[in-house]
Amino acid sequence: MALTGLQIQKLLPATNCKECGSNTCLAFAMKLAAKKAELSLCPYASEEAKRTLGAASEPPVRCVELGPGRQLKVGGELVLYRHEKTFVHETALAVNLNDTDPPEVIDSTLKQVSDYLLERVGEMLRIDMVAITQKGPDPQAFTSLASKAWRVAQRPLVLRSADPVALAAAAKAVQGSRSVLCAPTPETVPALMAVARENDHALAVTAPTLDGLVALSANLKEQGFADIFLRFNCLSPAERFQTNSLARRAALKDHFKPLGYPSLHFVETGDPADDMLEAINEITKYGGICVLPRFDAAQMSSLMTLRLNLYTDPQKPIQVEPKVYPIGEPGPDSPIFVTTNFSLTYFIVSGEIENSGVSAWLVVPECEGMSVLTAWAAGKFSGASIAKFIREIGLEKQVTRRQLVIPGYVAQISGELEECLPGWKVLVGPQEAADLESFVKSRLK
Ligand code: SF4
Repeated sequence: MALTGLQIQKLLPATNCKECGSNTCLAFAMKLAAKKAELSLCPYASEEAKRTLGAASEPPVRCVELGPGRQLKVGGELVLYRHEKTFVHETALAVNLNDTDPPEVIDSTLKQVSDYLLERVGEMLRIDMVAITQKGPDPQAFTSLASKAWRVAQRPLVLRSADPVALAAAAKAVQGSRSVLCAPTPETVPALMAVARENDHALAVTAPTLDGLVALSANLKEQGFADIFLRFNCLSPAERFQTNSLARRAALKDHFKPLGYPSLHFVETGDPADDMLEAINEITKYGGICVLPRFDAAQMSSLMTLRLNLYTDPQKPIQVEPKVYPIGEPGPDSPIFVTTNFSLTYFIVSGEIENSGVSAWLVVPECEGMSVLTAWAAGKFSGASIAKFIREIGLEKQVTRRQLVIPGYVAQISGELEECLPGWKVLVGPQEAADLESFVKSRLK
């Protein structure tokens, strides 16, 4: 049950010493209640407060840390909708391998997973995990493949087997990878919980019904094991959409702890289009780990782009460094364009300049990651601020051309910019970056 700020305040020392960064214990208690601060910030919190608040201050969806150094974080979510605040840890994407796959498929998949790198708006995106599924009768083949995947890909694994003995052997073989053992059932949970503890792995648990799964996760928690993933048994994409949403809502709105864990789902419909639909459902509707049946570069890039769109913090736009960027091989007399340092804007504008076939300079002043019109409305992209930036970076020494092309949406700053930069001419470019190519051909060549 969540505690109110006033209930939390009664557990704090009431000295108002401010060491936690809040002016009073009450203000700190309010932050704790809103889950905007952690109790560890108060050095004087009593053991009783830690005990009582520990559970209450945990995120409603537990954050499970995977991989060597626990770098891959899954869960820890605080809101149902991204616009309420932000989503915290994106859905981890994994690629599956079966122990019955031909050796050449195994080798090429592990290489593709290891080498895959997608650059999107300045972010470098990689595949998070590899899943190993036991399909054959030989536990040794399963363990060998798990060891190989860990050795080659150096990523946490999802180990899936119906045989607890095989799972235990593989768990031991990949000790240090902090992987997920999948999928203990009510019958095998006790033995596999011990294996997971001994080898420092998490568990993905499942049961025939949602009630059964709730009982299972509650039971694990009672025994002090909390690194849990939930595998929902659903018969259709519609049911999965509903169950994922129901579980997240129960965890966030009703503080129902047994469903307050990230989920894990194997996409394996047998049809690439349906696979895509299920994977999209996982990314958009609260999936913790989504295991794809094979490596497919086109599928992966689309899913990663979708994931990036959803999981970037809407309050912290992705930015590029404010500076002058060369596009192509510009010389002192090459055209000079100006735009803002919002990543998306930068990459679209630089791409369109590149497409036009002209080498140019792209001047990107500090605009706190805002797009052109937003930055202009906030006073961050004015004639004076652009001129100041151009003087600070010494552009005049770098180029002989004295002409700037500004975005068409801020045509109104051209006069001010010319006033602030005596000797320079300002050309108003197109409003849309897509029209830059024709602008370059008609006005600059
Ligand atoms: S550090 Fe602790 S005692 Fe001091 S003001 Fe903050 S909550 Fe109160």
